[in-house]
Amino acid sequence: MTGATVTRTGDGGQRPAHSGTVCLTFDFDAVSAWIGAFGVRTPGVLSRGEYGARVGVPRVIEVLGQHDIRATFFVPGHTLDTFPDAARLIADHGHEIAHHGYVHESPTKYLGDPQAERAMYERGIDAIERLTGRRPRGYRSPGWDLTEESIGLLEDLGFEYDSSLAADDYHLYFARRGDSVQPDGSLRFGPPSSVVEVPVSWSWDDFPQFEFVSHPGFTTSSLAAPSKVLEIWTQDVDYMVERIPNGVFDLTCHPQVIGRGHRIMLLEKFIAHCRQYPSLTFSTVEEAARNFRKGAEASAARPA
Ligand SMILES: [Zn+2]
Repeated sequence: MTGATVTRTGDGGQRPAHSGTVCLTFDFDAVSAWIGAFGVRTPGVLSRGEYGARVGVPRVIEVLGQHDIRATFFVPGHTLDTFPDAARLIADHGHEIAHHGYVHESPTKYLGDPQAERAMYERGIDAIERLTGRRPRGYRSPGWDLTEESIGLLEDLGFEYDSSLAADDYHLYFARRGDSVQPDGSLRFGPPSSVVEVPVSWSWDDFPQFEFVSHPGFTTSSLAAPSKVLEIWTQDVDYMVERIPNGVFDLTCHPQVIGRGHRIMLLEKFIAHCRQYPSLTFSTVEEAARNFRKGAEASAARPA
């Protein structure tokens, strides 16, 4: 329990409270998720994405402002070009805008065609630079999958971090480039890249918890009670604070999902729960990745 302070619990006991970081992230997919991931172009379905821009983003921005939290928004270029006012609202409030494809396409769409995959990254970078005047530092793959080329391409394009993989939960790590699956043998690991991986988890994602989707190959019908989701998220934060020194909790929400009244109240309750721990801080993903890199460089420079 090195480095742990002590937090008093409600039942009069004590438990260790490690330092840790909570990253609130919002994938502002708007209509691009329905077009890019589901191939749907009809008004009824697309209006669910429009809700994210009209209602979800302003509500999320208001909550973040009330709690003085800077968050990370992963935004497809298509969303920036279609809903520039909502995107500007995010940027004007000082939140990080990171890459989430152009029209919410999975990199696996470009399997075997790294040039086309690279062109998709460049199109998304251009859209973010047009809005913010700044290249994105981070990337999150829609649907959380990559090709064997993705990490190498992200590294070549100057990305500092990726947030699409799930080989850890509370610990950041350097993503490998060029892992290869052998048809008749073990997975062959590629060398570590300079891209910091900020891991994700479907259980820390509001979409599968709450959304009703009936689509060939992807069906969810959860429409969960917020109390259930609050229990999952807060217990995973409790575990981190009690047992994981310097952990990072990377929560993924979507304005079109979390924007509903009962879910915005869930977000507020989750923030309040985290704020009970003085040892926890909120940061953007960019800051968390940079802190991890600094720590890794300091350890490498230390004499053995
Ligand atoms: Zn997305």
